[in-house]
Amino acid sequence: MTNVRNDVHRKRFVIRTFEHSNLIRHSSFEFRHSPLLLSVSVCITIVQLLSILTKLNTKKRRNEGDEVFLFIFSSCPSFLRFFVLKSFHDLVAALPRWGCLWLILAFISGCDSRTAEVPTSNPPLAKHALIVSIDGCRPDVLLRANTPNIRSLMRQGSFTFWAQTTALAITLPSHTSMLTGTPPEVHGITWNDDSGDGPVIYPNVPTLFEIAKSHGLTSAVFSAKPKFNTFTRPGAVDWSFITPVKSKQFIDDDVIAAKAVETILQHKPNITFVHLSATDILGHGKYFWVPEADQGWGSNEQIWCIERADAAIGTLLDALKSTGIYDDTVIIITADHGGSGRNHGANDPRSRFIPWICTGPGVRADCDLTQVRSLTVHIEDTFATVSYFLGLPINAEIMGRPVLQVIDDHDLLTPLPSASFSLPPPPRKTKPSEPQS
Ligand SMILES: [Zn+2]
Repeated sequence: MTNVRNDVHRKRFVIRTFEHSNLIRHSSFEFRHSPLLLSVSVCITIVQLLSILTKLNTKKRRNEGDEVFLFIFSSCPSFLRFFVLKSFHDLVAALPRWGCLWLILAFISGCDSRTAEVPTSNPPLAKHALIVSIDGCRPDVLLRANTPNIRSLMRQGSFTFWAQTTALAITLPSHTSMLTGTPPEVHGITWNDDSGDGPVIYPNVPTLFEIAKSHGLTSAVFSAKPKFNTFTRPGAVDWSFITPVKSKQFIDDDVIAAKAVETILQHKPNITFVHLSATDILGHGKYFWVPEADQGWGSNEQIWCIERADAAIGTLLDALKSTGIYDDTVIIITADHGGSGRNHGANDPRSRFIPWICTGPGVRADCDLTQVRSLTVHIEDTFATVSYFLGLPINAEIMGRPVLQVIDDHDLLTPLPSASFSLPPPPRKTKPSEPQS
């Protein structure tokens, strides 16, 4: 093949074939993992290629020996970024042979479209992280509650009440996504059973705690639900309190928070994860001390429960302050799902949306992230954001991405387009014509 870079007489056709992957990149996780929609994606690719070939041929823009550059915008880092086919004839001749490869590429492009460069912070922006998950906390119910500690964090930090959990919208799969940066199809925790029968099953991918451990950081995990044992792979977590499997005793949020406070005061873990379960228990109508008829998502009792969770968060914040690490801690307050009636799950937007409040060193204060029109915070982004603040590497293959919009010195928020319309002038009042006498 001649050196096309020095041959100005030859035309170059730069063909962008996989632009449709942008559609996938900005879509929801289910889209990217739906075989049906990925098949549609493959079909679009083939149609694009055929249309390009037809265009080149009919417009007689082709000369013998023209170079056709086929840039394949697959973000898969391990794959060749472009192909150079020697001539248009080669391209046509190669079509049947390369067809299968294109199909595979389209699939890879769709699957890994979120594997673009992942930024890392060096040096780390924070030495500590506190993640508090209020199980079952639906954003609008949270906003109805009197939560001075959470409101204070909102004033100090950035937040959205339109963050999304997994499509499953159930506790353990969603929390595993929160703590691994991957969807349930990848981390493999698709069950939600608390019976504890059989051996503990760990995620297919490393958790935030395991990655922290491998980089010399310490972690602590606190939960009232026995199934959270799935996050305590031997050697991964330094301190933990998780309700034993066979325990019939429900442990309330203040008790869980007290256990975490004790550990923060003694050990100052780099990462502290606290799971407060009472809001979810009450949503399901199983909170012992409240009449069942008064329980459920959005009930006044659940609001009371969220207010108690807020008080528990207050004790955690006090612990961070009294140990002198508050200013060096990134804090995320979030949830695993919402709910409606006395349940939650897939195909219910009331289950799907979760609050996401972030504060910490350099975090933009009093910033509603919904101002960034292109941004949707996903539950997997909690993993990536904490990793970013702590300077931990983020595997490009995972789905979570750091929410960089929370950081003060990051690019300014994209301003919303100003209104380009104006109201029509009011109709002119005309004097009623004088009746003619
Ligand atoms: Zn839950």
